[in-house]
Amino acid sequence: MMDWKDALSTIVTDPNARLRFGEPLSKHTHFGIGGEAEAYIEVSTIDELTALAHFHSKWDVPVAVIGRGSNLLVSDKGFKGICVKLIGELAELEVDGNVITVGAGHPLPSLSKLMSKSGLSGVEFALGIPGAVGGALIMNAGAWGSSFGDVVTDVTVMDETGELVKLTHDEANFEYRNSGLNAYFCIVGATLTLQPGDVDTITTLMNGLFKQKTTTQPFVEENAGCMFKNPPGDSAGRLIDICGLKGHRIGGAEVSTVHGNFILNLDNATASDVLDLVAYIQNDVKEKTGISLQTEVKRLGFD
Ligand SMILES: Cc1cc2nc3c(=O)[nH]c(=O)nc-3n(C[C@H](O)[C@H](O)[C@H](O)COP(=O)(O)OP(=O)(O)OC[C@H]3O[C@@H](n4cnc5c(N)ncnc54)[C@H](O)[C@@H]3O)c2cc1C
Repeated sequence: MMDWKDALSTIVTDPNARLRFGEPLSKHTHFGIGGEAEAYIEVSTIDELTALAHFHSKWDVPVAVIGRGSNLLVSDKGFKGICVKLIGELAELEVDGNVITVGAGHPLPSLSKLMSKSGLSGVEFALGIPGAVGGALIMNAGAWGSSFGDVVTDVTVMDETGELVKLTHDEANFEYRNSGLNAYFCIVGATLTLQPGDVDTITTLMNGLFKQKTTTQPFVEENAGCMFKNPPGDSAGRLIDICGLKGHRIGGAEVSTVHGNFILNLDNATASDVLDLVAYIQNDVKEKTGISLQTEVKRLGFD
């Protein structure tokens, strides 16, 4: 009799290349942390994604679509379910004048570079954000006063029944490092409207922001970007700094000495090390400043 693993292998045309069981998720996160996913599958077309949604409504196995794992902490126990990565047609980009149609799997640094070469302004800030478009939509990723949602005209999502739904900018409910897009089975792509401009000016701005980022934030060591959201009118990094927590270490996880809002995996840190350090920081900052820090990094595989 067919079990869910057999059924899953019928979704993609070349399961030997794009489907794996017992896949270490540490390979798919910027933190380099996390146990195994029961299954990992790379989906490359809308038809395959629709088949996956139908599979999901038939079999009682959790499904999590991930991007480039740059805002993700995966449990040491891994994920009892299927991790999905969008590739191929679902990562393509098309330019029509100043209107861009981009798949959720497309990497942000590539988007930023391609737009600068096309003389289109609006995503210069994204060169230093190592995520994909889907993750940037979910998180409303941003830097230097710009957010991804600012350039989005509409977002295409797939619901649990496999139907494609087009949401307007307003329906996506973008807010600071959050959106209403979590509610859907999968973010498929988006339409962006950018401003035509001069290639050299755009490229200089993009490279300047990248340089500023890599000199003020850790960029080489494994991490997941900012661990905490900035509280209204303040910066989480400043609060962590004034509490004297830079360099504080639990197990293999350490608060960056360059920027207090980054936790680094310096020496085979576990997800437990990271969560213990997060709790330590939250308690200390609360005790010394009265402010409760909320985490920005998403979690997968925790009960
Ligand atoms: C060195 C470094 C620097 C960073 N700098 C910044 C910065 O300046 N500004 C900023 O905002 N962030 C920053 N980040 C964090 C991160 O890059 C962004 O949040 C990014 O947008 C996450 O994209 P991702 O593809 O990696 O998402 P992931 O981490 O893979 O996923 C994030 C969440 O979205 C979900 N998800 C992802 N794709 C889909 C999809 N297609 N459909 C449904 N759900 C999906 C996942 O399940 C998860 O819950 C940084 C991270 C690092 C490591």
